[in-house]
Amino acid sequence: MEDCIFCKIIKGEIPSTKVYEDEDMVIIKDIAPQAPIHLLLLPKQHFANIIEMTDEQAVLVARCIKKLSTMTHELGLDGGFRLISNKGKDACQSVEHLHIHILGGAQLADKMG
Ligand code: 5GP
Ligand code: ZN
Repeated sequence: MEDCIFCKIIKGEIPSTKVYEDEDMVIIKDIAPQAPIHLLLLPKQHFANIIEMTDEQAVLVARCIKKLSTMTHELGLDGGFRLISNKGKDACQSVEHLHIHILGGAQLADKMG
């Protein structure tokens, strides 16, 4: 998508700190971290959110999360982590390219809302 900031990051047109990349996804550091470790898992395919996800894209996202599960040690997440995917206004989604926040590196707040 032409105007999508995450598509531009994936293509390298906008700089980012990539901590992982393969054929399915990139994982970058969030530019405004809300935890000591705050990463964004970006599937390379552009779709806005889980509501607009096809069955094939759902398989892709599941595969990305499965791969993430094998690299938590390298990412510094041995103590645990929280995955969040915001959808829509009430959840304050600001980038319309599905992404999963990966938060960790310290004791996170008990309340999530
Ligand atoms: P959302 O609010 O859509 O769930 O999350 C979007 C996230 O993208 C925010 O946490 C925001 O800090 C991050 N973000 C926005 N623009 C950039 C950017 O140019 N580079 C990086 N690394 N993160 C970004
Ligand atoms: Zn995109």
